[in-house]
Amino acid sequence: MRTVHVSTGKPYDIFIERGLLDKAGEYAKSLSSATRAVLITDTNVAPLYKWRVLNSLSAAGFEVATHVFQAGEESKHLGTIAEMYKTLADSGMTRKDMIVALGGGVCGDMAGFAAATYLRGIDFMQIPTSLLAQVDSSVGGKTGVDLPQGKNLVGAFHQPIAVLIDPDTLNTLPDRFITDGMGEVIKYGCIKDAKFFEFLENENALEHIEDVIETCVSIKRDVVSRDEHEKGERMLLNFGHTWGHAIEKVSGYTKYTHGEAVAIGMVKAVDLGVKLGETPEGVKERILAVLEKWHLPTTTNLPVEELFHTMCSDKKKLNGKIYYVMINNIGESKTRPLSEQELHDLL
Ligand code: NAD
Repeated sequence: MRTVHVSTGKPYDIFIERGLLDKAGEYAKSLSSATRAVLITDTNVAPLYKWRVLNSLSAAGFEVATHVFQAGEESKHLGTIAEMYKTLADSGMTRKDMIVALGGGVCGDMAGFAAATYLRGIDFMQIPTSLLAQVDSSVGGKTGVDLPQGKNLVGAFHQPIAVLIDPDTLNTLPDRFITDGMGEVIKYGCIKDAKFFEFLENENALEHIEDVIETCVSIKRDVVSRDEHEKGERMLLNFGHTWGHAIEKVSGYTKYTHGEAVAIGMVKAVDLGVKLGETPEGVKERILAVLEKWHLPTTTNLPVEELFHTMCSDKKKLNGKIYYVMINNIGESKTRPLSEQELHDLL
């Protein structure tokens, strides 16, 4: 068992162990005074893992109801949340009861948002099952849903009572989503950890998946513990995301997964860093080589002008400036504010 402690406003632990799904009830019981739990999961994950978690929760004495939503980013909207509220209300959930989120980042973000808002906030436990969710989205307390106008525009910070990571669940994750999660894994090496980046250059990450998960969540833990509400350092986690979000939006959220769009975004951000004299020669080649090792895309033929306009409408703009994450060297990063005009001239 590996444990990573997160000291945010409401502290909690991340547990990493093969077979942990079967201990969900035990953990929930020891961490919460809830008597009822609603297990929220999606239509792909439910047939694979729902019963193991349900049985474990029931064996620990919980009265459990289940809510299964249609898998996919297309479900990440307020209509799905309204359906979740109905299940929560019909199950007689009180303020001391809890939600258990079992699935990828879409499930964690939505179940977390329902937990943040139902009865003005109830407990929730994350059991992430995709690589992206295990290394990134289940940690840090960001929850939310998309609006037709853009991704994650409605949300709340709501920390879980615990994150249970069972790496065995990755055995059923389709290859494309393994690759997708690797986009975020590589990001962590780029922004914060040169040794980890070297490890990714030289080793097969999947053969050391527990080390990889522990390293990524530890980096994220360190960053969010210092900057829970993204006022400064947490922005570094957005390396590749300014372009990435624009690429996802312009391509209609169908052509690229999140990690693929971020991979292209990281290369674009490095190009910009080189132009601005922030990123030295040689860094781009190393990042490209690791991305290509995982067959992640590194270029796109989407129109630059359209990507530029989408970046300018990004919700993360501050005082009219886009806060670009630049790589000063592998493992070293900083934000640099750019006005729309500066960005336009650079492109
Ligand atoms: P996802 O939840 O849609 O999961 C990807 C696919 O894998 C889905 O089809 C899902 O049903 C399936 N799946 C998940 N686990 C499986 C398993 N073990 N076996 C078989 N199939 C499985 O998407 P994702 O890539 O996990 O997450 C993307 C979402 O995460 C986006 O909405 C993004 O905005 C969000 N996100 C949030 C944060 C945060 O800090 N909250 C950070 C990064 C990304």
